[in-house]
Amino acid sequence: MKDCMSDDMKRKISEHPCYSPEAQHKFGRLHLAVAPSCNIQCNYCDRKFDCVNESRPGVTSEVLSPQEALERTTRILEQNPYISVIGIAGPGDPLDNDETFETFRLIREKFPEITLCISTNGLLLPDRFDELLESNVETLTVTMNAFDPEIQKEIISMVYYGGKKYEGREAAELLIQKQLEGIEKAVEAGMTVKINTVLIPGINDKHIVDLAKKMNELGVYIMNVMPLINQAAFADIVPPTDQERKVIQDACAPYVKQMRHCRQCRSDAYGLIGKDLSVEKQPRKKEFKP
Ligand code: SF4
Ligand code: SF4
Repeated sequence: MKDCMSDDMKRKISEHPCYSPEAQHKFGRLHLAVAPSCNIQCNYCDRKFDCVNESRPGVTSEVLSPQEALERTTRILEQNPYISVIGIAGPGDPLDNDETFETFRLIREKFPEITLCISTNGLLLPDRFDELLESNVETLTVTMNAFDPEIQKEIISMVYYGGKKYEGREAAELLIQKQLEGIEKAVEAGMTVKINTVLIPGINDKHIVDLAKKMNELGVYIMNVMPLINQAAFADIVPPTDQERKVIQDACAPYVKQMRHCRQCRSDAYGLIGKDLSVEKQPRKKEFKP
C-alpha cells in the first residue's frame, strides 16, 4: 500500500484507539448512538440489541437526538479530555439515518479538532459520500464479510435500497457493489479505511484471506476480523475460538494490517477500549425499540 497519508492524518491515526494498538491505552473514543434504523438484515443480528458490528449482545442502547448527543459529548469531553475520537456506530446503520449527519455537524462546529469516525454496512456509502466528506469524517469503517455474492447471500437475508427490497443473490451483489465502490471513493478522498469482518465458521472462514487481498488492492488501511456473536438466524453456529481467529489474522497480515485489540464495544461506549465507563452513570432518555 502506498504511503500517501498527510502528517496530520498520521498524527490522528496515532491517537485513534482502534487504528493504533499503542493509542488504545492513552486515547479514548466516544460512541454516539443516534442511528436506530438499518437497511439490511444480517443473519447474525438481533435488532433488539445494538448493531453487532460494534456491540456486545444483551445490552440495549439509548437512542439520542443530535442535540442530546452534543450535550453528552460536551459533558463527557469535559471530564475525559483524553478522548480523541467521536464515532457513530449504530445501533442501526449510521448512513441510513439523517441524524448522523446533523450530529456530526453539531460536533464539528463545537469541537473542530476532534477526529470524527463512522462505522457502516456500506450500502449507502456511494450515495451519501458527499455528505460524509462535508461532515469532515476522517476515519471510516465498513463491515465487509465477503466479496463473493454466493457467500454474502448466506450472511444477509435482505437489502432495502431505493424503496425496493432485494433478497438472495441479487441483494448480495447489490451490497457488495456499493461497498466496493464506497471504499474506493473513500480511499481516493484520503479517508483512512478500516474493514470489520465477522468470522463465521463454515460460511466465510475460507474466504477471508482473499478478502484481505482485495482490500489491499483497494488501499484499506486496517482489517478487524471479529468473532461471530451467535444469535438470531446464526444462533446455532459455534463461534470461532481465539486460536482459529488468530490463524486467519496471521494469514491476512501480509496483505492488510490487522487490528487485534477490538473489544466489540456497544454503540454508546466511551472511555478507553476495554475500560469503558458505565453508561448507567449517564441520564437515560429514550430506550431503543427495534
Ligand atoms: Fe444489524 Fe448492523 Fe447488520 Fe444492520 S448492519 S442488520 S444493525 S448487524
Ligand atoms: Fe474500536 Fe472495536 Fe470498539 Fe469499534 S468495536 S470502537 S473498532 S474496539
